[in-house]
Amino acid sequence: MRMQEEREAVIAYSRRLAGDGLAVGTSGNVSVRTGDVIAITPTGVAYDDLAPEDVCLVDLDGAPVDARLRPSSEVPMHAAVYRATDAGAVVHTHPLSATALSTLLEELPPVHYLIAQLGGPVRVVPYAPYGTEELARLGVEGLAGRTAVILANHGATTYGAHLEQAYTRSIYLEWLCRLWSEARKLGEPRLLDADQIEAAKIAFGGYGQGR
Ligand SMILES: [Zn+2]
Repeated sequence: MRMQEEREAVIAYSRRLAGDGLAVGTSGNVSVRTGDVIAITPTGVAYDDLAPEDVCLVDLDGAPVDARLRPSSEVPMHAAVYRATDAGAVVHTHPLSATALSTLLEELPPVHYLIAQLGGPVRVVPYAPYGTEELARLGVEGLAGRTAVILANHGATTYGAHLEQAYTRSIYLEWLCRLWSEARKLGEPRLLDADQIEAAKIAFGGYGQGR
């Protein structure tokens, strides 16, 4: 089967989404790119029931290459991220804290140095209906210089060189949003300044590369 390994990785990480609090039901989606082909979760199938042949292959325009099921409704966003960046994997989620903050903030403030892993303060881009090219465009705009973006009244998207990195960034983003929420309950959080974030980026070896 074409891209068997990538399909299996997509399934393995999709099955972790709910348990890690990154999505409810089948609402999150995961993709991996190899060359000009993207392996992505199908829409509306319980992740526990997914078999490798169910994972859809689409091209960088989102057109089906090998897909017996309907690909995720967010194919336009995944494809747009691959076209605009050097991403090897993209993870789209609906985590509770990030989604809650998406209704309140324009940007996730730098409350912890881990935000350097995401390129800096994470933007919240305006709402657009799910699955649309408009949402894809807004998401890519929000990713400029970042590896994560929060989608207003919807969720979040992260990318990385490989699936483990993209997924870990989704975990970090949700933790940072939870941290912000917890700190705000207690008072006005002290933020890191731009120099401190830059120093953390250098210590991490530069965002978008390494781990
Ligand atoms: Zn979504």
